[in-house]
Amino acid sequence: MPLKEEYAMKVPFVDLQSEYQSIKEQVDGAIAGVLDRSDFILGQTVSDFEKAFAEYCEAEYAVGVDSGFSALELILRAYDIGAGDEVITAANTFIATALAISNCGARPVLVDADPDTFNLDPVQVEKAITPATKAILPVHLYGQPADMDPILALAQKHDLRVIEDACQAHGARYKGRRTGSLGDAAAFSFYPSKNLGAYGDGGIVVTDDAETAERVRLLRNLGQSVKYHHAIKGFNHRLDTLQATVLCTKLPRLDEANGSRREAAEVYNRLLADLPLNTPQEAPWAEHVYHLYVVEVAEEQREALQAYLAECGVATGIHYPIPIHLQPAYEELGYEAGAFPVTERFAERILSLPMYQGIPAEAVTYAADCIAAFFDENGSG
Ligand SMILES: *Cc1c(COP(=O)(O)O)cnc(C)c1O
Repeated sequence: MPLKEEYAMKVPFVDLQSEYQSIKEQVDGAIAGVLDRSDFILGQTVSDFEKAFAEYCEAEYAVGVDSGFSALELILRAYDIGAGDEVITAANTFIATALAISNCGARPVLVDADPDTFNLDPVQVEKAITPATKAILPVHLYGQPADMDPILALAQKHDLRVIEDACQAHGARYKGRRTGSLGDAAAFSFYPSKNLGAYGDGGIVVTDDAETAERVRLLRNLGQSVKYHHAIKGFNHRLDTLQATVLCTKLPRLDEANGSRREAAEVYNRLLADLPLNTPQEAPWAEHVYHLYVVEVAEEQREALQAYLAECGVATGIHYPIPIHLQPAYEELGYEAGAFPVTERFAERILSLPMYQGIPAEAVTYAADCIAAFFDENGSG
């Protein structure tokens, strides 16, 4: 077992700088083009990107917005979901999912995770349906699609909308189909560290339904159909032309980028297989795109392992340390500790290892060796 001092290296959690360096010429040229045209708001590359991204998702329409949060919110508003309505979503997700629901005035109804995939458990979803339920909002957490077929069947049975939170799953597939094309509408985020990231905030709504796309188009731009003609009350949630330009440049490389994440995950899986931790389970229906690579370790060892890795120069994260229902911001929902045992147990045990597109194999190997050295020194908890 190599000692950590022998060949120490720095492994960042994500590396946006080297990604930029690899496409600098194309991005710089594309940005210069926008500056020349100066079509900064809803310019040419916004519609170019919308077309390209819809096609990439194997869907009909895409409408660019200013964040993943806005994408979720505008879909809900397009469906007139608001006060008095309930939207069922995952207890185990990033808080933005729930915030988009409550921001519209609706109530986020949380359900626990499936212990194998950590995504929304369809069995729990059915139990949470009430007469006030308007939509189910599954999250493709960490890059792995939720089990959509049972969710879609429930939605059909109870006449509910299905809205995908695909903010961590650009390019992932469920039974061969792309995320973004699985429900009634989907929200993607282009936060810089996402699988497809802008150089600032950005997001998009993807749908096969012309009316939904048109509603979101109005809502993102002050409810304006023709300049200074306002059909409905809208917002300013437009995608910037500069960000769309960056995204146009990066989209053709997304599959390759996701491939490099999958390769890194395979190396981690292999090197960590015999250690006392759980590596992520890829569901039989999923082509996982590893936005995050999340392992589960004994609760009493997590902090020590994270500290040990930091000492080795390996950056890690926890996604997410406090479940939504235990956040002070969501006291109003009235959930107690213990309400979602899978999610809560998971929050105490998870650790996200370095993962980004083009992560060098040596970095993955080094991180895995450091984890092995930790268990060598500390036993299996
Ligand atoms: C990133 C993310 C969002 C929000 O996206 P922003 O672009 O940061 O607003 C929503 N849901 C999930 C699951 C996310 O990971």
